[in-house]
Amino acid sequence: KLRVLSGMQPSGQLTLGNYIGALKNYVKLQITHDCYFMVVDLHAITVPQEPAALKEQSESVAALYLAAGIDPKAATVFLQSTVSAHAELGWLMTTLTYMGELERMTQFKDKSAGKESVGAGLFTYPSLMAADILLYNADLVPVGDDQKQHLELTRDLAQRFNGKFGETFKIPQGYIPEVGARVMSLDDASKKMSKSNPNAGSYIALLDAPDVVRKKISRAVTDSGREVKFDPANKPEVSNLISIYTQVADKTIAEVETLYEGQGYGPFKKDLAEAVVTVLEPLQQRYREIRESGELHRILAEGKERAAEQAERMLKEVKTKMGFVVL
Ligand code: ATP
Ligand code: MG
Repeated sequence: KLRVLSGMQPSGQLTLGNYIGALKNYVKLQITHDCYFMVVDLHAITVPQEPAALKEQSESVAALYLAAGIDPKAATVFLQSTVSAHAELGWLMTTLTYMGELERMTQFKDKSAGKESVGAGLFTYPSLMAADILLYNADLVPVGDDQKQHLELTRDLAQRFNGKFGETFKIPQGYIPEVGARVMSLDDASKKMSKSNPNAGSYIALLDAPDVVRKKISRAVTDSGREVKFDPANKPEVSNLISIYTQVADKTIAEVETLYEGQGYGPFKKDLAEAVVTVLEPLQQRYREIRESGELHRILAEGKERAAEQAERMLKEVKTKMGFVVL
C-alpha cells in the first residue's frame, strides 16, 4: 500500500476550503492507502495562539477528521506535538534549508505582510513541514493548491539529503484535486479561503450553524451582472461559488450553469446554501457525538503510538546517516 500523510493546523475552525481541498480526499484515500492524518499543532503556533484556544481547536480538528469520515482503525490520526520526532527532524531539515528558498515562499510573504513582528517559526515553517512528510516516507500528500510550493521544497530537501548522506527518503508527490484545490474567500475572490482570516464572513466553517451558512452565502460578494457562468478571469466570485457547488452537490460546472440560466444569482445562492447545509448537518451531528463520547483522547493516544513507532525509526536512520552518535 502506498503511504499518505497530511495535516491541518488548529489555527482556527476548519473551513469548507479545507474540506474541499484536502479533507474530502483524506476520506477517499484511507480506503486504498496507508494513511497518517495529523493535527499540526506545532505549525499552528507559528502565529500567536491562546493556550486555551489552541487546545480546543486541536481537539476540534481531530474530531472533525473523524466526523468527516476518517476511520481511526483504517488511518492513523494523531497530534503532531505528541510525536517529538517531528520537532527533531524539523530542526535537522532547517539546517539543510537555504534562506533564499524560504524567502521565496508565498505563504510566508502573505502571512508576514504588514505585521510588525513575525516569529522565526513562520519563516522556517516549510522545513518542519518537510520533516512531517519525510518521517513517514510518504508517497502522496493530499493538500490544496496553496501547499504546492512547500511540497516542492520538501522534494528538494529530500533529494538534497539523499545526495549528501545517501539514499534515505522517498520523494513524495502532491495529491491535489482538479476542482476545488483553491477555494476563494467569500468577501474577496483574490484571496484563498482561510480559517485564520479575522473576518468570519470570508469563510464557511464546517461547524457553522445552517442559518449562519445561509447568511454568509447570501452575503458573499458577486459582480453586478446576473449570469451564472464559470469564467474565473472575468467573474471570479461567481466562478468560486460555482466550483464550491460542484464539490458539495456532485454536479458538473455545465450542469450548474444550465440549471440557473437566466435566473440571476438569487436562486443560485439559495440552492448553493442548501447544498452546503446538506453536507454539513450530518457532519456536525457526528462531530457532537464524537466530542460527547469522550473517546477522542484515547484515539489520539493510539494514533500517537503508531505514528511514533514509524517516526522514531526514521529519525534514528537520519541521525545515523548525518553522523550523530546514536545510542
Ligand atoms: P491558516 O489560515 O491558518 O493557514 P488554512 O485554512 O490555510 O489555515 P491549513 O491548516 O493551513 O488551513 O491547511 C490545511 C489544508 O487545507 C492544506 O492541505 C491546505 O492546502 C488546504 N487548504 C487551505 N485553504 C484552502 C482553500 N482555500 N482551498 C483549498 N484547500 C485549502
Ligand atoms: Mg494555511
